[in-house]
Amino acid sequence: MIYLIDMRINAKKKRPWSPEPKPQQTGRKDDHSKFYNSRAWRKDAKAFLDKHPLCAECSQEGKVTPATVSDHTKPIRLGGDPWSWENRQALCTHHHAVKSGKERHEIERGRG
Ligand SMILES: [Zn+2]
Repeated sequence: MIYLIDMRINAKKKRPWSPEPKPQQTGRKDDHSKFYNSRAWRKDAKAFLDKHPLCAECSQEGKVTPATVSDHTKPIRLGGDPWSWENRQALCTHHHAVKSGKERHEIERGRG
């Protein structure tokens, strides 16, 4: 009998309207997300893209593509200077994705 009562209590506990547990965010929060979200950075990135409106990688392939990302040649997390334009290149969305993917891959490999 005790067993049956327990079953009933468990059934009662299950409320259909109780909110589903939120799925865990898969994306690891970047240490520098605060920097990239800052107004100062956005302003500076825009200023850089105004001066360098075309994707550097596409230009090397002889293509003319508008740049959308002010990318750090040497990533900040690897010690690159976040504000120096010497450490900056204009990239299109595609090439930025390619570069970030490559970097992540290299870092993961380096951890071995
Ligand atoms: Zn490109």
